[in-house]
Amino acid sequence: MINNTTQKIEIVKVQHSKINEVDFDNLSFGKTFTDHMLICDFKDGKWEIPKIVPYQPITLDPTARIFHYGQSVFEGMKAYKDVQDNVWLFRPLENCKRLNISSKRLAIPELPEDYFMEGLKTLLQLDKDWIPKSEGNSLYIRPYIFATGKGLHASPSDEYKFIIVCAPSGAYFSGKVKVLIEEKYSRAANGGVGFAKAGGNYAGQFYPTQLAIDKGYHQVIWTDNNTHDYIEEAGAMNIFIRINDTLITAPTSDRILDGITRKSIIDIAKDEGINVEIRKITVKEVVDASNNGSLKEMFGTGTAAVISPIESFRCKNQDYILPELENSYGSLLKKRITDIQTNKAKDTFGWRYKI
Ligand SMILES: *Cc1c(COP(=O)(O)O)cnc(C)c1O
Repeated sequence: MINNTTQKIEIVKVQHSKINEVDFDNLSFGKTFTDHMLICDFKDGKWEIPKIVPYQPITLDPTARIFHYGQSVFEGMKAYKDVQDNVWLFRPLENCKRLNISSKRLAIPELPEDYFMEGLKTLLQLDKDWIPKSEGNSLYIRPYIFATGKGLHASPSDEYKFIIVCAPSGAYFSGKVKVLIEEKYSRAANGGVGFAKAGGNYAGQFYPTQLAIDKGYHQVIWTDNNTHDYIEEAGAMNIFIRINDTLITAPTSDRILDGITRKSIIDIAKDEGINVEIRKITVKEVVDASNNGSLKEMFGTGTAAVISPIESFRCKNQDYILPELENSYGSLLKKRITDIQTNKAKDTFGWRYKI
């Protein structure tokens, strides 16, 4: 039940579930969707009560502001099923809060927290059979908001849609990634929208990332837009660099997204007794560390891939290879966070959220 109202989320169920058409042993990432979706409209100055309907296409006016002015924000989260078939989310309120932080920056009206949380819970209860149980698989959840109001005037829309779709998914990346340190293009700038999960941030990344892919790399490491001297993010993930036994990650800023995986990994690493430094780190420091043998590991963190180890990086026409480690921090921290997420370990941090 949504607070402050006597109204309940209306549910229209599918006539026939598509679940038997899905090969749960060979899931790719984000390509198959569950039977239902949540949909919630902003009209006449307020968010209406969310509805759950069969997964289906939506109709938009050709002048919907999203098409012209790119007002859109999103979130990415996962649901897990444990051996007793309990369903868990990981720090879902953080996603809800961040969605509103992103919305505010894009002049999108903030969504009441209970619409997000109750809507998500109701949807997951309905589609819980779609949550994969096998190792490495999960239900990827995509909440998003975009401008649906009509008209070509370059101003914030007066109407929006908040939608949640869910995709049973396998692992996001397979294996270690080769990255290229970017010296020309930028993902974000001071005073810009880099800290927001805005759709347009991704659009701006695709071209430079494609150039890197064409050269044989998987991802771009973003550096600061001013000097390109400082390491900021790894594609759409936060980045951690281990020099000797110290784990370093850049502080969040206007340009760096405040990842939930990032802050959880910082807390787990500290709990493990690992020395963590949250500070700016230059490309030069990483190159020097690679040259003198003190660079041990680099990895990206984010909901989709959790921890994505980096195999090598390219900087100024030279490739630097990371060593093969027996006991990497990356694999230790990945195991600890996924054990918490999937209810295989005690959650001393209070992060798990039962559906
Ligand atoms: C989503 C995202 C991340 C990771 O955030 P999580 O909350 O850990 O999933 C990092 N960087 C960028 C640019 C992102 O969009």
